[in-house]
Amino acid sequence: MKIAHVEAVALAVPMKQGIAAPISMPRAGETAGIVFREYRSVIVRIRTDDGIEGVGECMTRLSGTALRDIVNYVAPLLVGRDPRDVEYLWDLLWSVMMNRGHQKGFYLEAMAGIDTALWDIWGKSAGVPVWRLLGGRTNPKLWAYASSLRLRDIGILREEIDAHKAGGFNAMKVKIGKDPMDWRGEIRTVEQIRDHAGDGITLMADVNCGYGHDRKTALQVGRALEALGLYWYEEPLAPDDIDGYAFLREHLGIRIATGEADFNRFSFARFFKRDAIDIVQHDAARAGGITEARKIADMASAFRVLYAPHTGSSSNIVMAVSLHLATYAPNFLIYEYMQSDWNREEPNPLRRDLCDLPVKSFEDGYLEMEDRPGLGITLNEEIVERYRLP
Ligand SMILES: [Mg+2]
Repeated sequence: MKIAHVEAVALAVPMKQGIAAPISMPRAGETAGIVFREYRSVIVRIRTDDGIEGVGECMTRLSGTALRDIVNYVAPLLVGRDPRDVEYLWDLLWSVMMNRGHQKGFYLEAMAGIDTALWDIWGKSAGVPVWRLLGGRTNPKLWAYASSLRLRDIGILREEIDAHKAGGFNAMKVKIGKDPMDWRGEIRTVEQIRDHAGDGITLMADVNCGYGHDRKTALQVGRALEALGLYWYEEPLAPDDIDGYAFLREHLGIRIATGEADFNRFSFARFFKRDAIDIVQHDAARAGGITEARKIADMASAFRVLYAPHTGSSSNIVMAVSLHLATYAPNFLIYEYMQSDWNREEPNPLRRDLCDLPVKSFEDGYLEMEDRPGLGITLNEEIVERYRLP
């Protein structure tokens, strides 16, 4: 079996209004409408000489066409190779940009789409799900949380909480950190959320790096969340502040989680060696694909770090990838089951309609996967054509 053809397709769904980042990022006001102006995705389709097609997705936040170009540049390296040699091909691609900016950013995201498509081919050719290739079914049922509540009118939040509970969730996450100067006000809303959700609900908080370099605010908020009994405290600080995360972990009892903004195993190794986190949340579509994501999860287990894969605002391709990794990983904790988009008024058709999820059932907080070969997904070609960029 040989790779015959590699194609990258950039997709974009215009939003009616360019919205501010739904998080408290530095300069969020000035950068409004740059990243969060469209729902974007790049899918990678790889065909073999015997007619199997594998599909992958690159996490796509800024430029889909830039990612598409990178995939096209490296495609000649792949043609003629056995797609099942995932480790070799990963290393081959990694070597292309060695000492030219290979560690992070667009290049790793492009590699992720390619690597994921190779795993899909391998699974389809063997007639088994990707989790089988990763090492088998360690977790037949996957605990999953609703992601995410966004701070707004408490009446609407109560409705959303009720809807999640009615949908079978016993865990949910709330986004905070929108206004670091008003963290006490936000904590009061979190308290109302906790009170409405009730004792049986596990609640987490996600800051999306909103406290930046302000470790003391991050510490004060962490203490408040801990007092409210929240389960984890996600991305309070800038993603590269390893010492800051270690500082919080040392001073707080609440679990510290991070990882969606990082890229490769060498970078994650620094967090693990520093004892900086309790839960790792890398995203396979950013962290170089399934080959690299598995290594990061495995390495985390050696440091007693639990694995809660990030899925975020990508399509169901990435949602499926994380399900396979979760089914395999012995240190898996909980799955991010996306229930919201950037904008309530403009739902993301790439997340909802590009392909279905290989989920058999979801009840009492746990989901079960279908046993389909490869990733277990089929692209909706009508959606691909409707949103593909020329
Ligand atoms: Mg997050």
